[in-house]
Amino acid sequence: MEQEKPYRENVGMVVFNSEGYVLAGDRIQYPGSFQFPQGGIDAGESPLAAARRELFEEIGLAVTEPAGEIGEWLTYEFPEDIPEHLKKFRGQKQKWFFFRWDGNPADLQLDLHEREFHSLKWMKMEDLAKEVVSFKRPTYDRIAREAARFLTDTSKPVLEYRRFGIGLDGYRLCEEVSIFLKPGEILGLIGESGCGKSITALAATGTLPEPGGYAAGEVLFIGRSIFAMKPDELRRLRGAEVGVIFQEPAQALNPLLTIGRQLNEVFEFHAEQAAERGLKASQRIPALLERVGFADPDRLLSTYPHELSGGMLQRVVIVMALLLKPSLIIADEPTTALDVTVQAQIMKLLVELKTEEQCGVLLITHNMGLVAQYADRLAVMYAGKVIEESPVDVFLSEPAHPYSRGLLDAIPDLERKHELKAIPGQVPAPAQYDDGCRFRNRCPKAFDACDKPVPVTAMGRDHRVQCWLFSRP
Ligand code: SF4
Repeated sequence: MEQEKPYRENVGMVVFNSEGYVLAGDRIQYPGSFQFPQGGIDAGESPLAAARRELFEEIGLAVTEPAGEIGEWLTYEFPEDIPEHLKKFRGQKQKWFFFRWDGNPADLQLDLHEREFHSLKWMKMEDLAKEVVSFKRPTYDRIAREAARFLTDTSKPVLEYRRFGIGLDGYRLCEEVSIFLKPGEILGLIGESGCGKSITALAATGTLPEPGGYAAGEVLFIGRSIFAMKPDELRRLRGAEVGVIFQEPAQALNPLLTIGRQLNEVFEFHAEQAAERGLKASQRIPALLERVGFADPDRLLSTYPHELSGGMLQRVVIVMALLLKPSLIIADEPTTALDVTVQAQIMKLLVELKTEEQCGVLLITHNMGLVAQYADRLAVMYAGKVIEESPVDVFLSEPAHPYSRGLLDAIPDLERKHELKAIPGQVPAPAQYDDGCRFRNRCPKAFDACDKPVPVTAMGRDHRVQCWLFSRP
């Protein structure tokens, strides 16, 4: 008798939203029983690539970055009396991925011939686990336990990049950037100069290339596409929703006007937003100045920028950025021009204020020590791409990408026992970018596959890496 062939390995996709619901569908093959999309892994395909492909083929959803995955493979458990046609699934191994998406299921096109579902809807995970066909129930119970880690954290990102990229004069300056920032956290965007971190951050203020350039993907500010904003929405975004702190505080201030005049002008320019938020200049300005350490705010208001030190100026700029209670602060090398003692004061202040004001801080820096000490999560950029994204504590103990390991070896203040090592070689210029790993000419672990496009691998919750060492070529 011909032996039954083992069924091919399989992937399952849990799509969840910011409200804590999961996306389930009424499958054409098993009508009336809602379940997750899933499908087979093709020969030579990585599980993550299969999950992305199947999501698109089955329900028309193109999301690329997983929020995480179930670490080990699950195996279907079956009762003894399963129907004959289901026996082929015995022993089938499955890998499950979690994706975040906040769209409307009704917008997904289900009437194409590859699609597998009649309809899709958002459901509570516990309701779905009860309703699914019986032979899948143990697997769904397991998924429900894992999903709790994702579904309880439902705060909507204040800023989210989805496959974002910018090109100029025929060069790709940054591409496939998919990162997010939650309210009340600091995300360190770290990389050497020219890696694309500042243009990535500037896109959050709606600053995009002039004609001759292009912007790809999406940048969402509290769920709204910045690319789709009208000029008056962009003005509001820049003035009242996003505060910016630059490296050189003196450049952010007009040397001919007093500090008081400049802070009051913020309220005059954005009177409508200030009124909406119940903010009065006469209360908010002195309160914030005192909060950042000016003992005599009235005296400070009558001074000119040249009368203040670099640290004092940067504190004034922080106050200016926070005046209208923005949801997002972009801090671009905020302490590089300051001495080390003042640097620590300014960073401690930022950490306290982001918690008090519940705003997200995107910290752009080349200083790994600063990120290690003050950020909650970090994204490492190299030659226009995010090559690793991780919670800071996980990154410090288990950096995955060879470049990340090199960055940690090159900082002096993390009590590392071995010698400091510089990473040999140079970052390629945009004219040299190709589709393979851009670190391969400097990487001690490079091998044959590294000149091919590198997939993103989920290493754990909020920890992703782009390196062939963690994926099947
Ligand atoms: S993909 Fe290859 S070259 Fe790039 S970091 Fe990983 S091992 Fe090194």
